Amino acid sequence: MDKEWSEKNRQMQSMIRKKENFEEGIGILLDLRNDLFAQIRSIVNTYPSEAFYQIPFAKAEGFHSKTLVYSMWHIFRIEDIVAHTLIVNDEQILFTERWLEKTKSPIITTGNELKGEEIAEFSKQLDVKAVYGYCKAVKESTDEILKGLKFEDLKKRFDEEDRKRLIESRSVSEDESAFWLIDYWCGKDIKGLIQMPFSRHWIMHIEAMRRIKNKLCLKARKGADPVAFCGLSCDHCFLKDWCGSCRTRYNTCSYATCCPDNICTNAACCREKGIDGCYECEELDECFKGFYGNGNDGKAVKALALFIRKYGKKQLISVMDRLHERYDFKKIQEIIGYDVEEGLKILEDNRQV
Ligand code: SF4
Ligand code: SF4
Repeated sequence: MDKEWSEKNRQMQSMIRKKENFEEGIGILLDLRNDLFAQIRSIVNTYPSEAFYQIPFAKAEGFHSKTLVYSMWHIFRIEDIVAHTLIVNDEQILFTERWLEKTKSPIITTGNELKGEEIAEFSKQLDVKAVYGYCKAVKESTDEILKGLKFEDLKKRFDEEDRKRLIESRSVSEDESAFWLIDYWCGKDIKGLIQMPFSRHWIMHIEAMRRIKNKLCLKARKGADPVAFCGLSCDHCFLKDWCGSCRTRYNTCSYATCCPDNICTNAACCREKGIDGCYECEELDECFKGFYGNGNDGKAVKALALFIRKYGKKQLISVMDRLHERYDFKKIQEIIGYDVEEGLKILEDNRQV
């Protein structure tokens, strides 16, 4: 489990147990939920639409054997049902503001009953942006419920009436792979529900989403040019396990994801000029656009582009192999230093001629 998330979850659990720390504990829970939701937001903003219905771990057991959009639907359907039908006893968010219509979902259940290809088919039918909007609305609504909780509420338990209401909502499938959820939720007090589904359930599914997206990036990079437009060698980049490269539709380079509309200036500029990379551009020496304006990291990458201009991409890859054999480093900037010319010289010194 992600260390930071698991530590926040542990802290929150221990704090809400004591009345004097309860409010601070709820604050940590809200913080954790914000961190986790930022992951979903980033995936929705940066991945191509096809990514949301792929099942790269189709044969696996576990939360990662689903799709990205199924995971979103499932996390927030469960939360919506538990928060509104079970705890507050009011209308679920799905049935407000036309969310059911907007998401285009053919089901109102949690999706537990779906298997394999059914998950992929279901995912294809969903409008991803609308599902994200629904998730956000559920999160915000639950956050308000959590803020309104008092220490004394934690021990509140549920009775037969509550159980009956859940069944009558038809929000949980009668299939045995889903129906157990009703007894599971009704067997917990509010403190137990804070863990499942309001925190730990998110962590488990969002970690699974990370595995899914990373696998999709790796698949996308197979066969793609391993040198990026700016001159970086993708196979040597410390982010290679989760970036799909700017040469593919899975461009999740950390620099690109910070650019407006996730379009990296260098990649866009090369495409506009119709060149293979900045190393083919006559303005390279004087250029501070995009990543080249990014302090020392930018200088190091510019040295890579200058090296490619002189010796070609193949030579750069073999120099990078050699540097990684010789030194233990993450970012190329750690080797190249702070000066473009000196950086170029270091690369040249590591050529095998
Ligand atoms: S900075 Fe831009 S050009 Fe370089 S790897 Fe990232 S997206 Fe590609
Ligand atoms: S102007 Fe700069 S960013 Fe654009 S292609 Fe040339 S070197 Fe790359």
